[in-house]
Amino acid sequence: MTQFTRREFLRAGAAGAGVGVLGLSLGGGLAGCAAPLTADIAPTTRRRVVVIGGGWGGATAAKYIRMGDPSIEVILLEPNREFVSCPFSNLVLSGVRKIDSITFGYDGLRRHGVRVLHEAATAIEPDRRRVRLADGYLQYDRLIVSPGVEFQWEQVEGLAANQDKVLHAWKAGPQTVQLARQLQSMPDGGVFVLTVPPIAFRCPPGPYERACQVAWYLKTHKPKSKLIVLDANQNIVSKTGLFRQAWKAYPNLEYRASNKVIAVDPGVREVRTEFDKVKYDVVNLIPPQRAGTIAVQADLVGADKRWCEVNHTTYESVKHKNVHVLGDSTIGLPVPKSGNVANAMGKICAIAVVALLNDKPVPLMAPGNTCYSWVSDREAIAVVNAYKIENGKVVQIEQTLTPAQSPFVAQRAEGWAKSIWHDVLG
Ligand SMILES: Cc1cc2nc3c(=O)[nH]c(=O)nc-3n(C[C@H](O)[C@H](O)[C@H](O)COP(=O)(O)OP(=O)(O)OC[C@H]3O[C@@H](n4cnc5c(N)ncnc54)[C@H](O)[C@@H]3O)c2cc1C
Repeated sequence: MTQFTRREFLRAGAAGAGVGVLGLSLGGGLAGCAAPLTADIAPTTRRRVVVIGGGWGGATAAKYIRMGDPSIEVILLEPNREFVSCPFSNLVLSGVRKIDSITFGYDGLRRHGVRVLHEAATAIEPDRRRVRLADGYLQYDRLIVSPGVEFQWEQVEGLAANQDKVLHAWKAGPQTVQLARQLQSMPDGGVFVLTVPPIAFRCPPGPYERACQVAWYLKTHKPKSKLIVLDANQNIVSKTGLFRQAWKAYPNLEYRASNKVIAVDPGVREVRTEFDKVKYDVVNLIPPQRAGTIAVQADLVGADKRWCEVNHTTYESVKHKNVHVLGDSTIGLPVPKSGNVANAMGKICAIAVVALLNDKPVPLMAPGNTCYSWVSDREAIAVVNAYKIENGKVVQIEQTLTPAQSPFVAQRAEGWAKSIWHDVLG
């Protein structure tokens, strides 16, 4: 089953929670009608965790809570019916992979007893411990929020009004395929402009891996073309030496550091930086980012209004009790915004939530991170970060880079992807 309608969801709820309980919610002549705004759409007598966001952090947490204590009911809210992996999505741009190979369903989670509801959470009410949906709410004992990033469209003039023409492809899915098509249809001799936002953003090495994939594609298929990378940062922000080395194979790649894009005009195919105007045939503008909108609206973000501060061992928000935040929406830990970290956070948080709901001590666990970047169709590089908990905080122990790019690292990347996709969703 790949789709789960509201009716099926309620029916499953009746089976799981007891018909009497459901009868209570929809009693008084409401059975069969859409739940009114004030109704709990699936009341339960069991302990319940609601998870917002079925990406790397949320899906992992949902599965691991069920594995840790099957008596806890877990409801996952995720509007998308399919999970499309950002890791490896740059390979779709270069045509090395197809989007289908990085697209997965949620049936694996259902087999663990996670109740997946394909709807967005519209608001969080921490004081009443409930999450609002379009036509009702869900009560929770603990809430896990992992909504990823949202784009700060307003930071680049002309971007908000041209979202359909100026692609980010920074949430894997339809835009990934669209951008690949734009690249394929660009005339040989054309200019592809890729813009990198100021840190912090999702996947620090991601834009530079993308630059490799676009440059590799152009070198292979459109040798008269050029890639210009406009980076708002002073230098490549991750795996710097390894990317610089890889780029030696791409004379068609021109890298301009400290070139923050402030405006885009698709009418004349031009981006403007603080100092310059650059013409393009195809543009890929990666906008500045902040935590997912639901986290901002629920006042989970800190003073910067962008990212959420959390307890480093439970991932509970420092602002609202019983609400945990995972993945790219968090900040304050010395970890990158990566799928690997979001997956690790999902597991640690699941263990913490199970312990807290069972009045047991929370074990202290730090995440880890291994991040691969593809620098051509067959070679990759990697970085490994190790962390520990010291005085209740995550601190980095060491960082190790692969000595050089190689097909062996690429093989390990393939293994990593298969295993982590299964860990998140299988
Ligand atoms: C091009 C690219 C390459 C990358 N490569 C790597 C890599 O090689 N290795 C690596 O480790 N990481 C990589 N990443 C980073 C990785 O994809 C992210 O760090 C990861 O997706 C973060 O997980 P998350 O759970 O925080 O967010 P996501 O995975 O984005 O999940 C968030 C989910 O929340 C849902 N959501 C949002 N709002 C609501 C709401 N109101 N109600 C319900 N659901 C909601 C969204 O639909 C989404 O499915 C890459 C990223 C990009 C863009």
